Amino acid sequence: MKSTLAKAFDVKTFRQNGIDLIHKLADYLDKANNGNLDKTIPYASPADSLTYWQNRPMKSENFMGLVQDVLDRSTKLHNPKYMGHQVVPPVPLAALAGFFTEFLNNGMAVYEMGMAFNPIEKLVCDMLCQKTGYPDSSGGILTSGGTLGNLTALLTARAKICNLDVWTAGDKDTQLAIMVSEEAHYCVDRAARIMGLGEAGIIKVPVNDDYTMNTELLQNYYEQATKQGKKVFAIIGSAASTSTGSHDDLQKIAAFASKNDIWLHVDAAHGGGAVFSEKYKHQLKGIDLADSVVIDLHKMLLTPALATAVLYKQGSDCTATFHQKAQYLWDNSEGDWFNSGKRTFECTKLGICFKFYALWHAYGEKIFEENVDTLYDLAKTFALKIKSSGFLDLAVEPSCNIVNFRPQNLSNEQVLQIREALILDGEFYIVSTILKGQVYLRTSLMNTFTSPSDLDNLLSKIKNLLP
Ligand SMILES: *Cc1c(COP(=O)(O)O)cnc(C)c1O
Repeated sequence: MKSTLAKAFDVKTFRQNGIDLIHKLADYLDKANNGNLDKTIPYASPADSLTYWQNRPMKSENFMGLVQDVLDRSTKLHNPKYMGHQVVPPVPLAALAGFFTEFLNNGMAVYEMGMAFNPIEKLVCDMLCQKTGYPDSSGGILTSGGTLGNLTALLTARAKICNLDVWTAGDKDTQLAIMVSEEAHYCVDRAARIMGLGEAGIIKVPVNDDYTMNTELLQNYYEQATKQGKKVFAIIGSAASTSTGSHDDLQKIAAFASKNDIWLHVDAAHGGGAVFSEKYKHQLKGIDLADSVVIDLHKMLLTPALATAVLYKQGSDCTATFHQKAQYLWDNSEGDWFNSGKRTFECTKLGICFKFYALWHAYGEKIFEENVDTLYDLAKTFALKIKSSGFLDLAVEPSCNIVNFRPQNLSNEQVLQIREALILDGEFYIVSTILKGQVYLRTSLMNTFTSPSDLDNLLSKIKNLLP
């Protein structure tokens, strides 16, 4: 064997690197959980970061030195002062399961390349369907992210609802359209454009004061679109919406969808995890009426990214999305659950299921419920602190773990300056958003170790930054 390859596969080196890496991460986690990491974000500008990596010497077999350099220059989700974007600090066991999955590298598209992962994915999807309140005939798939998940579900909706075989013939003559809240995640808009619906095919429904879809307008908007010659085939409910974490009224949207024979898709990428919570599942009332649902396991369900479930009330709809025959991959039997490639956009797909399954296997459903309850409760506590601070306005009462607020009497520019000062300081990581033209500081409480005193410290830091 050539010498570089021989070195790269050397078992002794692998064993030592593995041991060293685990020690490094365990030390990092220990510090993080005990509040002993000094920065959440060691911010450097894009140009400075690029310069660093361009100038860093390449030729070295010192893997741990490389790991340390990446760690020093990365955002620390495991720090309880991380309150930024909606990505979870994964449970260590799930990350180990992910490493193991990558090591095996079973591609899953055909049964023989995923003899363990295909059945495990089915068990995971069946469990999530049952928690969603779906009937026994339901089913689903796992895919890489909510963005791809939403696109997949909308492709299914088009295949099932339109009397057009767009997949084969295109849709030259019909203006197809979807209806969605103006507060929906931008990926829904992107999916519609990828599907060729164009601007005219995305009907944006205005929101109420609490940023939920104004369902009073639905029938009117639908009839207007139909009069204009559009064929509306789907409506998307958000559970929750991205900026404010607001939950659309799924029961009302379901009644509208059913009356007009259109597909109801629920984008529960963020909030879907609440199906595990006795206390908070009421936020999702009506989700069982949806034809399809997307849930990100890498948001509220403690699993490393990317891991997304696309669930269908009628499991057979899984196979309605992509009709292609690849002779070298599959024989032509339809509806087989064990050849995952027939039902997902991806061809080679890692065993996403295993990261989640390992958690479920070790800790039961309870771990998911505890995480949702802890973080949603904490958001309520945070909202109370904001309201009683005397210097902050709360954007809207939180219905999950997303909380937006802004210092009173400041311009948008000044709010942005505060957020910038926080990033340069690095102790906390939070983001910002724009609501009704006003800039807000935005937090997603994603770390189950975040405590009320961390929130107090954030607020006093902000107070000190006031102009
Ligand atoms: C995060 C999110 C998405 C995008 O999902 P990714 O997994 O980041 O691709 C879509 N919709 C909603 C409501 C989200 O919260």
